[in-house]
Amino acid sequence: MTSNFHIFGNFKMHAAGRLLREYASLVGDTRLGLLVPHPYLSQAAHLFQDTHVVVGAQSVSGHAQGAHTGQVSVGMLQELGVGTVMIGHSEVRQQGGDFKAALALAQAAGLRVIYCIGEDISAYESGKRDDVLSAQLADLTTLDQVMVAYEPVWSIGTGVVASVDDINAAVSMIRQWLLENIPGNSGEATVLYGGSINENNCEAVADADINGFLMGGASLKPKVMLEVVKLCKQRSY
Ligand code: PEP
Repeated sequence: MTSNFHIFGNFKMHAAGRLLREYASLVGDTRLGLLVPHPYLSQAAHLFQDTHVVVGAQSVSGHAQGAHTGQVSVGMLQELGVGTVMIGHSEVRQQGGDFKAALALAQAAGLRVIYCIGEDISAYESGKRDDVLSAQLADLTTLDQVMVAYEPVWSIGTGVVASVDDINAAVSMIRQWLLENIPGNSGEATVLYGGSINENNCEAVADADINGFLMGGASLKPKVMLEVVKLCKQRSY
């Protein structure tokens, strides 16, 4: 448990206009982050400009600009005043992409990055978790403005939450890897957990050695999301 506990919601590809307005009417001075689909970033940035809600994008291109139809660049996010971006979510990894390049561009531009890593069920069951996590971590060259989100793929959207023991084992490996491989890292990396967190399980999972949550499904229910923030308030940043 830490004094800085960061909670981010990931709306995935769900229509967000009404959802954002509902959040805006409920958040007050609550501190949390919302990762919204690209078309809603402008609306979200405007709605939350005088609040403690951090607005972020769910992905960004590994190309700086050019003939890459359908992609969104770091420069475009900056133009909208969006200072946070998630990179490497497992649902984005499935589509492919150059996450090393996206990380480099986002970090060079000073964006805050939530870098997602996690093993699938076959890697988990065959004891290959650490190999998968190391390979994904290898795309990181600096921890500047980076939060690592450990999201076991088998837990995302399944209702199956990883046990505190499993989370601690993975997070300990992640912290050790970062310590050994990222120059200048003092061992204070921020590591979030994501995977089927809700208002009923959040307090138990918050006892793991993590610095916050990345939440998908539950973030589509603002009252549930705010309840999670409230329940973990003493850990909140
Ligand atoms: C996610 O989308 O990153 C996620 C953790 O989803 P869920 O909370 O629904 O498992």
